[in-house]
Amino acid sequence: MGADMKSKAMVLTRFNTPLELKEFEIPPLKDGEILVKVEAAGVCGSDVHMWRGEDKRTPLPIILGHEGVGRVAELKGHRNYVDGRRIAPGDLILWNRGMSCHSCYECVILNEPSLCSHRKVYGINLSCEEEPYLNGCYSQYIILRANTDIFKIEEEIDPSVLVSAACSGATIAHGFDMINEGVGQTVVVQGPGPLGAYAAAFAKSRGAANIIVIGGSQARLKLCKEFGATHILNRKELSIEERRDIIYDMTQGRGADLVVEAVGMQGAAEEGLKLVRMGGTYLTAGYAQQVGSDTIDFFTDVVRKNIKIQGVWVSSSRHTYQAMDIVHKNKTAFSKMITHRFKLEEANEALQAMESKEALKAVILP
Ligand SMILES: [Zn+2]
Ligand SMILES: [Zn+2]
Repeated sequence: MGADMKSKAMVLTRFNTPLELKEFEIPPLKDGEILVKVEAAGVCGSDVHMWRGEDKRTPLPIILGHEGVGRVAELKGHRNYVDGRRIAPGDLILWNRGMSCHSCYECVILNEPSLCSHRKVYGINLSCEEEPYLNGCYSQYIILRANTDIFKIEEEIDPSVLVSAACSGATIAHGFDMINEGVGQTVVVQGPGPLGAYAAAFAKSRGAANIIVIGGSQARLKLCKEFGATHILNRKELSIEERRDIIYDMTQGRGADLVVEAVGMQGAAEEGLKLVRMGGTYLTAGYAQQVGSDTIDFFTDVVRKNIKIQGVWVSSSRHTYQAMDIVHKNKTAFSKMITHRFKLEEANEALQAMESKEALKAVILP
């Protein structure tokens, strides 16, 4: 790689202002680092929150983008994939967006690397002023650190289709991973965005017969059928009571075995807990930032029903792997998830498309 190599990137320098196109010198790699040419960068709902200054972790200036697929341009020293194979220049790869320390209480004692107190995440809490500068995916190149877990990608898949496996897919995989006793017959998913689409796909792969998705966007709801939704309920057309009646009618008055919250909207938990059957499970993944509080009737909706509530925060490499697997098994459906594609310079338009929910999933092709 020439010493004068440069990379263009879109940088957030001030909240609520457009990202700026900047050029970075590509620094010499340190041992174990990998220079990756970004083939596709996912635009996540949380990027919009960061842009708006709603995520306290955001250091400025920053190259956004924590979901990426790319090709190995150069590597320093020898590196292996998580499956033990050797990484080589030219390989198409995906990586875990987060790096855990594997030496803190959460990592070692709790065995929960996703809760690591020193977790570093590309495009989320690494500024572009911190070496090696190219720390986000809204860029022509990203430099992956030596402690990043890396997965090889089969060549016959469009890189755009896989980017969401790095974030929403892995988070949902983590949630399902924590539910040990299966998903049962009937699964309700609150929210038809990428998290909800993955939830429908995982519910189907775990053998659920009825998968009911609740949402406010008819286009997104219809798309969820591709991922395994058997019923869609538009909350703009059906009242909360009507939705509940439909679900109870479908389950002989019992309620759903599993309800997955994938929406992060105030009131979702209040509705969702009432849809869980006796002894069922409520899996909550969508509240990825503060949205206010829900009022829960714990006697009626939790204690009296012996239900389990499982929260899920981000993911570790095992879940990224599981999400990639489900995408590979449902390529056609996941290719339909990508509704918008933008050039690097159009990153601001991409953020707007996600913010307006016009896009189910937007990707940037640097
Ligand atoms: Zn994300
Ligand atoms: Zn740790």
